[in-house]
Amino acid sequence: MTKIKSVCVYCGSSSRVDQVYKDAAVELGKTIAGQKWDVVYGGGRVGLMGLVADSALAAGSKVVGIIPRHIQAREIEHTDLTELHIVDSMHIRKQMMVDRADAFVILAGGLGTLDEFFELLTWKQLGLHDKPVVMVNINGYWTKMVEAIRFIANEKFMRDEDLGMFQVVNTVAEVPSALNSAPHERFDPSTKWI
Ligand code: AMP
Repeated sequence: MTKIKSVCVYCGSSSRVDQVYKDAAVELGKTIAGQKWDVVYGGGRVGLMGLVADSALAAGSKVVGIIPRHIQAREIEHTDLTELHIVDSMHIRKQMMVDRADAFVILAGGLGTLDEFFELLTWKQLGLHDKPVVMVNINGYWTKMVEAIRFIANEKFMRDEDLGMFQVVNTVAEVPSALNSAPHERFDPSTKWI
């Protein structure tokens, strides 16, 4: 199992959300820094993304941001990061975020966060990576989505075993132990329906 050095955080870019999500973002930055892990994220200073970055930086983490040029204006890049990469496309951003991290944390977020979460799972299902994925279910935010994924397995559009591709925790405090104990199993796509 690879020792975790760097954790990629996916979370919302909206600043209009309830304080409970903002508090979780600040706590997550601190918690990652407390483990001496680096943070990789989307590079913006808006919403939960900015809060995670600020709190990790304040607590001594290295923070690496990766932002596509065409959304730089909308998400407003964070200018105080340890490293900021301005890249040419969303695809390059997503690939770099996956390559630079040893593990992934999904906090509350919108469609962009969902897209990133599902891409992580589909890539894992195809055997393209075997890195731990932990979803933080603050305020029950992801409960309905987790139920929907279980229903997909129940209806046999995915394998029950693949439900183990991600773990769900209810608090930020549980993130380090969940990441450290996550199984590293490389999925063999050739066995998918056998
Ligand atoms: P959101 O969860 O929608 O607030 O977005 C969180 C992050 O996901 C932001 O950095 C967005 O730029 C990014 N994002 C939005 N749409 C997509 C997409 N289709 N693919 C990948 N990332 C996205």
